[in-house]
Order: sequence, then C-alpha cells, then structure tokens
Amino acid sequence: MSEQFDLLFKNGLLITGSGIQRADLGVRGEKITAIAPDLPVENARRVIDARGKYIFPGTIDVHVHPVYEDNVEDCSRIAAYGGTTSVLHFAYAKQGDSLLQKVTEMIEDGQAHSLLDFGVHGGIWEAAVQVPEIVETMKLGVTTFKFFMTYLKQGWYTDDYQLIKAMDILAEHGGMAMVHAENGGGIDYLEDKYLKGPNAHARYFNTSRPAAFEEEAIFRAARLAEVFKTPLYIPHVTAARAVRAIRLAMEDGLRIFGETCPQYLTLTQKIIDERGALAKIGPPIRTQEDQDALWQGLKDGILNVVASDHAAKKKDVNGDFLMQGFGSPQVETLMPITYDAAINTGRLSLVRLAQVLSENPARIFGLYPRKGTLQVGSDADIVVYDPCREYTITAENQHSKVGYTLYENRKVLGWPEMSFQRGRPVLENGEIVAEPGCGQFMPTTGERLDPVVV
Ligand SMILES: [Zn+2]
Repeated sequence: MSEQFDLLFKNGLLITGSGIQRADLGVRGEKITAIAPDLPVENARRVIDARGKYIFPGTIDVHVHPVYEDNVEDCSRIAAYGGTTSVLHFAYAKQGDSLLQKVTEMIEDGQAHSLLDFGVHGGIWEAAVQVPEIVETMKLGVTTFKFFMTYLKQGWYTDDYQLIKAMDILAEHGGMAMVHAENGGGIDYLEDKYLKGPNAHARYFNTSRPAAFEEEAIFRAARLAEVFKTPLYIPHVTAARAVRAIRLAMEDGLRIFGETCPQYLTLTQKIIDERGALAKIGPPIRTQEDQDALWQGLKDGILNVVASDHAAKKKDVNGDFLMQGFGSPQVETLMPITYDAAINTGRLSLVRLAQVLSENPARIFGLYPRKGTLQVGSDADIVVYDPCREYTITAENQHSKVGYTLYENRKVLGWPEMSFQRGRPVLENGEIVAEPGCGQFMPTTGERLDPVVV
C-alpha cells in the first residue's frame, strides 16, 4: 500500500534555494513526507493541482514591528495575505521597560493570537539597564538583539561602550547583534539644520540622512563586532556605499549579514515628493544608483535577505514633517513586490528569490532546515504562487490599519494563490482561513548557517 498523504501537490514546479524541480510533494501531518514525480493520488485526503504554478517554501519575514497600528495578530494576518508563513517580530524595550518583560509579553501575545509561526528579536532603547538582561532573555529562545546607532536625541541610542559590551555578551552566549546603522549625532545636526525653521521642507529629508552616515555606522559596527567575533546583522541596507561597507567586512572574514527591503529595491527618493511623510522611512529611500547597487548586492551575495521592515504608523502629511514617525506598511506586499521586481525583470533567478525570502532567513536565524526549504522532514510551510496572475495594489485591497500603501496602483505580475503552514491551510481564494493562536513560537538559535548564494 502506498503512503498516505493529508495533502498532495501535483504537477507544480518546486522552487527552493537549491534548485528547481518538477515533482509532486506530499504532506502528512505537519511535515513534508515525500517529493517525487508521480506520487499516487489514491490515498491523498486532499489533492491540489499546481499545474502552471510555482511552489515555494513559505516566505519568512524577519523584520516586522507589531507595536504600532498593526499588532501581533494583525501583522500575522496581513503578512499571510502576501504569502508569508513565518514572521520575526521586534519586541521593543523602551526607556524604563524591562527587556525580559517586553520579550515575554510578545511571546505570550503571539502564542495567544498569532496566525503564523513567529520568532522574536529584542530591541534595546535603554542599553545601560537592558544589556544586563540579555542573558536571561536569551533563555526564552530569543538570540538576536537590535541596537540603535541613530536616534540620539530621541534617547534610543546605544553608545559604543554599551554596544561593545552587548557584543561581548552576545558572542559568549551564541547571540547576534543587529544594528540600525546610521550616525546618530550627525543626523541630529543635519535635521536641526535642514528640517527645522522657516525653510524646513520634506525634500531635505535625504539631505539630513546621507548615505555616508549609513556607511560609517556599518563600518563602525563591523569593527566593534570584530573584536569579540560577534555575528552582526545589518537590517534595511539602502545605499551603494552601505553595500560597499558590508562587502569590505565580509572580505575581512567578519560574520556579517546584510538585509534590504522592497521599498529600497523598487522605489526612489522621488516618493518623498509624491507622498511626503508617508514615505518617511529611516534610513531613507535613496537614488536609482543606490537601488541598482542593492540588486547587485543581492546577486553577489553581499546582501542575503529581503524583509519588510513593516512599521504601520498614522501620519499627518500636512503636519510638521520632522514630527512624523518613521516607517511604512510593507508586510503584506513583501513577496509579491519582490517577486515582480526580481523575476519579471530578470534581475534575480527564482532560486535566488527563494534564497533571499526563505532559505537565508531560516539559515541566519537558526531555523533551517525545519523552515526555509522544501525537503522531506521540513515543516510543510508552502506557498502556491501563480506567475500569471496580474494584481493591482491599492490601499483598498490592503489590510494594514494605516490605510495607505507606498505601492498605490502598482501592477504586479504574479500573486500568491494559497499557502499552508505545517500542513494547515492559511491563505485560500484570497481569504485567510488560519485561526488566531495557531501560530507557534519559534525559538531562534545560535546554530546560524552561512547564507547560500547562486
Ligand atoms: Zn525596522
């Protein structure tokens, strides 16, 4: 008697970070149990004909901020509409907060309400009191901690003393440092000069946050990390010069991982003129030359992750630009925007896309091969992607509570048709069928594997 499947995907093209394969894929319980041509349908509870479709491992969005308009449950639902099956959230410990408590609360919130499997990063705003909490916090299954090298006048800044102290602790305990890499003091001065007073204008936003400051901060963070050999993750890389700094650190043998985001890969600073504060993101969306360099960096393996940096904030486009928050809604469009911009232009291969959206996030955060691939024994986190479906993104068909998208009226070719997590349906016919609370907490681990590149 042949093997029984709860789910059987027939006739699809399987796309992973290691290649493309025409094969059927069988699922039993929560796991992928067979990958082979012509698997028998007789004993399958449900058969999905994936002819003409791509089957990707579930997208893993490692950069989500569920602390503004969209909460943990919202973010997991919104992400699921776009084909994402796992999310890693930032639990921010602000001034006066306990890091341990904030991380504990977010894990409990996710266990109660998340529709998707989720992990958590710690986010440190008051280093002097929160850095000493890192070791206790790591026992919860949280091994990655973010520090701000910017936002000095807001008081979120971590100075070099505290940053190197944290890196020392993280290196000893198998953790990883993440830094928002921009020069805080420099930006504070330029904001005072260009974004305050009678001549202040949104068009000076990029002038106030030069790429030189991003490059300088990456260089500095990398050289601090070098001392204790602390793994270092640079989220939201935006500039050609920033890629250069990462390349240099890699050539010097440092363990450094670079991430960029769809907004930097598909928009330019013109968006500030068009959308004002809605496009205010730190670091900023930069020039076409920078965008080209980010694609090249992805191709070359200098950048290895694309994630959303979803930060859904209400903004007053007519208000004082300087007072408006940083960030934009991105978690829903991560996969379709990146897919369309990468694949339909020939910038990246399908295999490279699977690497930067799924396999490398899993490898870097110690989740591979349970997540990030389609292998026998892996979780059945699966996206069936229709490469022929056209979709026009507008605020009306998006699900973030902020009610706008930077991709207004953008037409993309290719859209997620359905998704599954650990064998359970998540997205079907454009609707979310997963229930709040069915997502599991995924502890990240120090078992970090180097990213792959084709
Ligand atoms: Zn962020």
